[in-house]
Amino acid sequence: MSDQHGDDFDFDTLAIRSGYRRTEEGEHSEALFMTSSFVFGSAAEAAARFSGEQPGNIYARFTNPTVRCFEQRLAALEGGERCVATASGMAAILSLCLAHLQAGDHIVCSRSVFGTTTVLFEKYLGKFGIDTSFVDLTDLQAWQQALRPETRLLFLETPSNPLTEVADIAALADLAHNAGALLAVDNCFCTPALQRPLQLGADVVIHSATKFLDGQGRIIGGAVVGGETLVGVGVYGVVRTAGPSMSPFNAWVALKGLETLSLRMKAHSANAQRLAEALQAHARVKRVYFPGLPEHPQHELIQRQQSAPGGIVSFVVEGGREAAWRVIDTCRMLSITANLGDTKTTITHPATTTHGRLSDAQKQTAGIEDGLIRVAVGLESADDIIADLMRGLERR
Ligand SMILES: *Cc1c(COP(=O)(O)O)cnc(C)c1O
Repeated sequence: MSDQHGDDFDFDTLAIRSGYRRTEEGEHSEALFMTSSFVFGSAAEAAARFSGEQPGNIYARFTNPTVRCFEQRLAALEGGERCVATASGMAAILSLCLAHLQAGDHIVCSRSVFGTTTVLFEKYLGKFGIDTSFVDLTDLQAWQQALRPETRLLFLETPSNPLTEVADIAALADLAHNAGALLAVDNCFCTPALQRPLQLGADVVIHSATKFLDGQGRIIGGAVVGGETLVGVGVYGVVRTAGPSMSPFNAWVALKGLETLSLRMKAHSANAQRLAEALQAHARVKRVYFPGLPEHPQHELIQRQQSAPGGIVSFVVEGGREAAWRVIDTCRMLSITANLGDTKTTITHPATTTHGRLSDAQKQTAGIEDGLIRVAVGLESADDIIADLMRGLERR
């Protein structure tokens, strides 16, 4: 066994080398250990493993070498001590909450998070006596005012989806810590290639590996990254007991995805920049939401906090829902699907899909207009992506 992990490597090297342990077979690509359990040399060794006296694998709900490789690689990229992989992004959020919250505790969460996260907090954690307040992502004063003595967790996504609003992670980390709470950042949209929340003071990073980490739309997976006690003890304890562990196959796919993460995130960002600028110049586009535009209201914060804008572009077409649907239906290449973070560009109409459950008033508060379209820009040629959208914009 040889471990190629080196703490002094650059990001791009860590993405390819960390967590990699070659077995005695001499394989060059990371081995895929499709096994549910592990064999002990003797009854005494089995006893020592079970008692914790001897470290090592027992059962794949607890540990698996392929899953560990993915975990160590992602931990290195986020700059965290520990990572625990989970079966999905939602399982990552649930495991964090089960590990660190109890009845009577309170969460403050940004209103613009992934819809299912809202349902998890309100409908399911609410059943167990955990209360959640939702606030405007960018309104620091609203976060402050929502704090209660029993607040234990601040939770956010930045940039938000679909309107790409940006939260000041360092300021919210201070706010959380002064209140004796944890700050968790769902880093799905930027990934550590563009933004590292732990270095800005966040306690925990959440991932849906389903998105950019895999990057090719193949698997469902998730992860929690943070300190040894919070994640290595707390979250790990929940995952090995409750069982939302990541499958070794999915870990293998995701860890191979990490090898190209940095290149892909730069390419997603560059394509998205081209698209945002083309849309901005179009007479029938009322507004473009994209962190890479100098007109973005938080341009200065974005420059400080992210190394590139990411791959999500949203825009409002003149003519409301009918015009938006026409643009979507005229596309020949873009895929009409709600997933994002894929090499293939995807297009959605938030008001009638991801945000369809909201009332008209809620949509208005959230800025989800009928003419709003979200594009998760992929890695096809920017010219082809732009041409596909322009066809619909030009049709009447
Ligand atoms: C998709 C997504 C999730 C949930 O991840 P799953 O892997 O689908 O469970 C959580 N947060 C964000 C921001 C997402 O986009």
